Amino acid sequence: ELSLGDLFLETVNKYPRHTAITFMGKTFDYQTVYAYAKQVAAYFQDVGIKKGDQIALMLPNCPQYVFSYFGAMFAGATVVQVNPMYKEQELMHVLKDSEAAAIIAYEPLMPIVNNVLPDTSVEHSYSVSFTNPSDYEQLIQHQLEYQPVHIQPKEDVAVLQYTGGTTGRSKGAMLTHYNIVANTLQSAATAESQINKGEERVLVISPLFHVYGMTSGMCLTFRMGGNLILLPRFEVEETVKTMQELQPTSFPGVPTMFIAILNYAREHNIDLGFLETVTSGSAPLSADVLTNFEETTGASIAEGYGLSEASPVTHRNPVEGVQKAGSIGIPIPNTDSKVVDLDTGTEELPIGEVGELVIKGPQIMKGYWNMPDETAQTVRDGWLYTGDLAKMDEDGFFYIVGRKKEMIIASGFNIYPIEIETVLYQNPKVLEAAVIGIPDPYRGETIKAVVSLKEGQSATEEEIINFCKERLSNFKVPTSVDFIEEFPKTAVGKILKRELKDQYISN
Ligand code: ATP
Repeated sequence: ELSLGDLFLETVNKYPRHTAITFMGKTFDYQTVYAYAKQVAAYFQDVGIKKGDQIALMLPNCPQYVFSYFGAMFAGATVVQVNPMYKEQELMHVLKDSEAAAIIAYEPLMPIVNNVLPDTSVEHSYSVSFTNPSDYEQLIQHQLEYQPVHIQPKEDVAVLQYTGGTTGRSKGAMLTHYNIVANTLQSAATAESQINKGEERVLVISPLFHVYGMTSGMCLTFRMGGNLILLPRFEVEETVKTMQELQPTSFPGVPTMFIAILNYAREHNIDLGFLETVTSGSAPLSADVLTNFEETTGASIAEGYGLSEASPVTHRNPVEGVQKAGSIGIPIPNTDSKVVDLDTGTEELPIGEVGELVIKGPQIMKGYWNMPDETAQTVRDGWLYTGDLAKMDEDGFFYIVGRKKEMIIASGFNIYPIEIETVLYQNPKVLEAAVIGIPDPYRGETIKAVVSLKEGQSATEEEIINFCKERLSNFKVPTSVDFIEEFPKTAVGKILKRELKDQYISN
């Protein structure tokens, strides 16, 4: 049983001079990152941060995030992941709920942070700037000595991961050292051919404050001794430019990112042939996007599935061997998974039937911070109840059919938005699509499709409805279609259906 610090140290010892991080033209090798992380830990020890204390990080992707993260690990502290896009109220909730003792935040956010701090238990705050010297320097420039801390990987919480809140109130998933180390090693096992080369260059645009960027981006790359290329935000032109310059071999992405990169690369005739394997997670990847991306780049996409409560990865399509489009793949090593009856929650369903996806494995969280009831509901007998609807095929491949909370019930039929979205994505004019249920006095709910079109395209509501009619049974055809320029999205680039729904319901 290793701590996250131990795991990182293994790579530092193996590849001390390999480039660990590339950011805005600067590089840091593994021994430098290690030295900075230890400095951060020593500094925190000096100001009185003890094992088990919480340190909030409110940073876009940057090297200081990485130093602080491992600094916290070496000090035995817990990293509280804070989305830099949070408004005051959300920040207040997370800082209060987590009882954070310190915060490290991006300098432009300090006005918000300073407004909130007096009402919280935060005693120390530091800012990080990419352009000017900032008070972060004091954390890494000093003569203090680090005192080793004994970590109990199964007990000690490494990260409080607040769930993104796509659907409801934000809860802090307690991920132990054991959970995250396990998921890093499980993920490494599924990428075996890439391991031990120490030559991977992984572009991480997915935010590190989200569990996907943290584990599948940072921790996995570090396990491989690879080069983590960080970009603070996703902007397609900048991303593609960085790709051309630094030629990443892989990146963990989300479908909306692949769509944007693909369209841009096609429009500008850009060759992305250096990409080898990319991972897609976070939201369903349509078969068309998968095929088009693979054809255009020559890279293979391995779709996986995960959630904050599972550190996050639980399923993945094998990189080598059978891949099934539209499937999240098979459980990764040391992971059990089954589909259970929605009502009883216990009875395992036969092949092909839709129920709730439940998962067991070393990556499953210890529980929700300070929420024993929610924890008991979500983790039963060691099984994580995901709230996602799924089915399994005869080869043991799993398919996400939708979220329990997003299922539309129209005229008594259960309708899964993903199925309709998949059809919409087949329309060559459609750039992005989301399907939501709108309350209706007669039918319970009706189906609304919201779509954005590719540049230079136009379409009518009727045309889209007819397109669906040709491909779906009548009860699944949207009754209305709205066109929008751009979708509201979460930090990872997932379409925010709740926000979309609110817009229509309040109007
Ligand atoms: P919430 O706050 O409601 O839990 P969230 O989206 O912020 O929402 P995350 O832990 O970030 O929570 O995301 C996990 C969810 O993402 C899964 O429960 C699932 O619904 C969805 N998801 C992840 N990967 C896939 C995939 N490959 N296909 C379909 N859905 C996926």
